[in-house]
Amino acid sequence: MNGRLSIAVIGAGMGGLAAAAALRKFGIEARVYEQAPKFARVGAGIQMMPNSMKVLRGIGAEPPLRNIAFEPYSHLNRVWDTGEVTNELPMPESLFGAPYLCMHRADLHDALASVVPQDVVSLSRKLIGLKQSANSVSLSFADGSSAQADAVVAADGVHSTVREMLFGPENPVYNGHVAYRAVFPSALVGRDLGRSRTKWWGKDRHIVIYYTTRTKGDVYFIASVPEPVEWMTKESWSAKGSVRELCDAYAGFHPDVRAVLEACPECHKWAILIREPLLRWGERRVVLLGDAAHPMTPYMAQGGATAIEDAAILARCVADCGGDVGTAFRRYEAHRKPRTSRIQAISKANTWLRGPETDTRWLYGYDAWNALLAELSLPSANSNEEARP
Ligand SMILES: Cc1cc2nc3c(=O)[nH]c(=O)nc-3n(C[C@H](O)[C@H](O)[C@H](O)COP(=O)(O)OP(=O)(O)OC[C@H]3O[C@@H](n4cnc5c(N)ncnc54)[C@H](O)[C@@H]3O)c2cc1C
Repeated sequence: MNGRLSIAVIGAGMGGLAAAAALRKFGIEARVYEQAPKFARVGAGIQMMPNSMKVLRGIGAEPPLRNIAFEPYSHLNRVWDTGEVTNELPMPESLFGAPYLCMHRADLHDALASVVPQDVVSLSRKLIGLKQSANSVSLSFADGSSAQADAVVAADGVHSTVREMLFGPENPVYNGHVAYRAVFPSALVGRDLGRSRTKWWGKDRHIVIYYTTRTKGDVYFIASVPEPVEWMTKESWSAKGSVRELCDAYAGFHPDVRAVLEACPECHKWAILIREPLLRWGERRVVLLGDAAHPMTPYMAQGGATAIEDAAILARCVADCGGDVGTAFRRYEAHRKPRTSRIQAISKANTWLRGPETDTRWLYGYDAWNALLAELSLPSANSNEEARP
């Protein structure tokens, strides 16, 4: 452990807050800089799988989520029209060592914010410049202010400013699909949607539906539909879609799906973009984390989970580095990249759990607090998937 290091975390999303909490757990000073003036309640659900719940447990964010979130019995995969079950993976806590919870995204954010002292999060601080010297990094912000830290963790999301500063502009590729999402009172649906999180698989489109509260008071869906390239936009949390067009796109689907879509008061829409794994995640005293490092499609529900896993591994590497933060960052990257690249690829293919899955343990059984961390000089092949006995 090295309590003398000071780390600036850019972005107070789920990865940035988790990183700050995990670093502080090891006695490392972490300060978070967020561009937004306040935390907004973005209307969306999010699934937290056991792999990320273990990290959340370790930083104290699990109890509020258990109180509020929906705990599905299983991942249920069904054929779009007949409803035939193609695969069901029950998710009891005993199977992977932590619960599987579905929640409102803002409730997850609140839980993360609750484990980071308010006075270490600075709002309205949009990072616009970074300068590394031999022993520190200088940061400059859009409001004219500046700061200094021993190192920087850039958790600034899919449109990362720091990634562009380090590696230049990116070139994402539209995958030919748009996504729609909405969260709204389930009373509007007029039928019970069961005890599971259900993914309905069509030929060229799908929809995932689940409750976001323990009381089943709110329902959420995320749907992916083919659409011509002209619609392509950058990912956005605020762009609106047409509920009518959405209902038309799912006209032949099972009555459970249609009941949800027809009850939906309004929806959001955005283009799904593909980004291949980066060659490197950082330079010397600056490293990327979460979507900034490994943006992925939402098809596998692992973007937030892997950002949260990153946080625990990063903190362990920094705590163990004896002050050599550059080496800690390379060790973190070496450990994380094989796992996140594999998840990015499966997520891009959108095949996870569609049919009988041979092995889910490597994903949901992973425990970032106890995963074996190879020394940087040693080959780390597969070490990311092995939990310590
Ligand atoms: C519709 C949808 C559904 C999803 N469902 C799931 C799911 O079920 N499970 C799951 O695990 N993942 C899911 N994901 C993925 C998940 O939302 C992301 O992977 C996750 O938000 C990444 O966290 P992050 O902290 O890296 O980035 P973000 O959450 O995007 O946070 C980045 C933060 O950085 C701030 N920022 C950006 N630039 C700057 C700057 N220059 N200066 C200061 N601050 C800055 C932003 O304001 C923001 O607060 C979903 C994604 C989408 C779009």
